[in-house]
This record gives sequence, C-alpha cells and structure tokens, in this order.
Amino acid sequence: MNSYKILVIEDEKNICNFMKMIFETNDYQVIMAQNGKNGLTMFFSHNPDLVILDLGLPDMDGIEIIRKIRAKSDTPIVVLSARTDESDKVEALDLGANDYVTKPFGTAELLARVRATLRNSRFQGTGKSVRESFSLYDMEIEYDARKVMIAGEEIKLTQTEYNIVQLLALHAGKVLTYAEIIKKVWGYSDYGSVKKLQVNMANIRKKFGEKPGEYKYILNELGVGYRMNDV
Ligand code: CA
Repeated sequence: MNSYKILVIEDEKNICNFMKMIFETNDYQVIMAQNGKNGLTMFFSHNPDLVILDLGLPDMDGIEIIRKIRAKSDTPIVVLSARTDESDKVEALDLGANDYVTKPFGTAELLARVRATLRNSRFQGTGKSVRESFSLYDMEIEYDARKVMIAGEEIKLTQTEYNIVQLLALHAGKVLTYAEIIKKVWGYSDYGSVKKLQVNMANIRKKFGEKPGEYKYILNELGVGYRMNDV
C-alpha cells in the first residue's frame, strides 16, 4: 500500500476515467481537475505528491501551469502530451516538468513513469551515498570506483563517457534533455555541443555492444534527449 496522492489535470473524460482506474487499482489516491484553473486551486489546497498535467487544456496552456507551480513548489510534474512536437516536450522539461508521457499511452508506461519520477524526486539532494551501485540487466556501475561492467567484463570508458553514463544512471527512468546533460557534463552549452554529446553516445553504445534499434540500456528520446532504462 502506498499513500501517494496524485493530482490529474486533464479535460478528456475518457483519459481521466482510465487514469483514475489505473491509479486506484495500484493504491494511489487520485484527485482530478478538468481545467487549469481548478487544477491550480486543487494543487495549492491538496498538496499532492505528484501532478499529471495535460498540456492541452480548455482554459489555459499547460506550460503556464508548470510556470505557476514551479514558482512555488518542487512537486514532481509528469506532462501528458498529445503533441508529437518535440519542442513542446523540451519546453515543458526546461521549465521544470520532470518527465512526459505521449498519448496514446499504456498502463505499464504510465505507471513506470510515475514510479521513476517519485523515486527520482525522493533521491534528489540526498547525495550519492544512498546509491553505491547501479544495475540494469547484465550491466553494473560502481560509482565510487567509476567502473562500468557488462556481464562481469569491465567496459573501458573515457572520463567524459563515464560521466554521461553515471549521470543517466543516477536518474534512471527519467529523460534528460540534451541541454541538461551537456550542462552537467561539460559545464557549458553551445551550438556544437549536441553533436559532441551524440558522438560520445555513439562511442558508449559501441562499447556497450548496442546496435541501432536495439538499445536496452540507454534509450533514445528522439529530438529530446536520453533516458537510462529502468526495469
Ligand atoms: Ca486535453
């Protein structure tokens, strides 16, 4: 039994009913708002643990709601986007949304995003002492030794490659945008740095033995960024 309270801000009745059923079946408390104005009122009066926010609402733009919530609170926000336009997702993430789910979505995907987001936000700011290692399928990372192993064999990474892998692993399950990764790994961001990140990622994938279209460790979020898988 978990006692997390989720606020869903979404105007489509079918999707509301679907999510209410999924979340209640999985022991979450759910409260619902069908427009942005009610959503903000409920957010500030009910203090939810997580917000699911549709970007396309009848009365206001979801982006505006992210701004208003982030001005006062760090409560995790997962955006629902019917839009295939990557720039909306990047804008939402840059404004402080924690992740997104693209419609149409399935039960497993929705629950996985919510779990990863709650876990990531719990760990934030607690330092790495709480996590000494990371494992995913046959991959293992020992953070103190800065060592990555696959099937027991050490993978030789450059410092930069290791920093990218560690950053993604520390946020496993969460998408990190190109800009976020670049800023954290290189400390700056310029026009050419996405290319540099992509070159490093190609080398990491090669060393991990991953082939295009069969990525199982680090997932491509096309036009947005990368996500360490979380199973
Ligand atoms: Ca909508």
